[in-house]
Amino acid sequence: MNTAEKIAILGSGCKFDACSCYPAMRQEKSDDRIGDGIGCSITHSATPDGKPVSLFKVLYSNACIFDCKYCPSRSGCSIKKTMFNDSELAGAFMKLYVQNYVEGLFLSSGVIRDADFTMEKMLSSVRMLREKFKYRGYVHLKVMPGASRELVKQAAEVADRLSINVEAPSQSRLAELSDLKDLKIDVLRRQRWMAREGVRAGHSTQFVVGGAGESDQEILKMADWEYREVGLQKAYYSAFTPVCSTPLQGRPQVPVAREVSLYRADFLLRSYKVPLRELQGVFTEDGMLPLGDPKVHLARARFDGPVDINEASREDLLRIPGIGHVSAARLLQMRASEPVTSFEQLHHMGIVLKRARPFLKVNGHAQATLAQFGGEEHA
Ligand code: SF4
Repeated sequence: MNTAEKIAILGSGCKFDACSCYPAMRQEKSDDRIGDGIGCSITHSATPDGKPVSLFKVLYSNACIFDCKYCPSRSGCSIKKTMFNDSELAGAFMKLYVQNYVEGLFLSSGVIRDADFTMEKMLSSVRMLREKFKYRGYVHLKVMPGASRELVKQAAEVADRLSINVEAPSQSRLAELSDLKDLKIDVLRRQRWMAREGVRAGHSTQFVVGGAGESDQEILKMADWEYREVGLQKAYYSAFTPVCSTPLQGRPQVPVAREVSLYRADFLLRSYKVPLRELQGVFTEDGMLPLGDPKVHLARARFDGPVDINEASREDLLRIPGIGHVSAARLLQMRASEPVTSFEQLHHMGIVLKRARPFLKVNGHAQATLAQFGGEEHA
């Protein structure tokens, strides 16, 4: 099999590994100029500091000794299996890089023989990029479940970001997906090591949303724990998609809307430091996020009526849809010298009035009632 054929298979095999938050950003780029199949290994993503980037997103091998029931790389799955040889991956990446098709590398893999054997192969490819080709750009490297401490350390030295997938929010949920993976030993222990190694752009993880019948509440509880306890930088949420020839092929696709709601709720936990207990009032009885924007639901649960813009605390301001860290800071700065007297002033501070207006009172007047708070989808 030639390199282009391998890239087509190994790029396609990597499509369920998330490296950007929103489904729209994960659209595969189809580019006839670079040959059939190769375009599907190029993904639009963003670096940890938010810059858009095109990544060569590929597996080192799509053969795996693990048995995750949703995964086409699992042992026993009949899809065509292949892997790069030692210099092939680095050479292929550099060709795409010098032609400006890609700006960074996302490298994952099935576990070929054992975790350390696979990590050695992946590290050897990244080292070749760094040392032989003097490549200084972005590398996101997946750590294999069960990899040794020494190889996690070496991975932290050559990559900008590391990740390992928790897949499910607890050992019992993970057991529904794999008979072989141990969440605590194979994954969480490696996450603690990554945190200790001080990876440049931190470490991330991914949940297969709906793969094990878990609720949103379980997922967010685990993500919240990971942010606090193992130094997680970012959680990715990937809606379960049934794949032919896997044991879960008959399960229904999980709607992408669920993935989007989880990202929005996660943003509240991570960026707004909303305590998980505050989100508890938002979940439905079966632990799912309701349709629509969690920030709107959170605000409806928190406030009895529109909030006076000149009296609200910083914490309350940040709970109002349409107000973020920057606009809240501008508002507080202005309020320190003179009261806000019009909605127009709020607009000039960057507050998204379409979202914020139902929650606000300016000059003693509200322009909407609480009943108009929500139910509808907000951008
Ligand atoms: S460990 Fe990863 S590659 Fe292997 S079967 Fe599980 S999900 Fe697939």
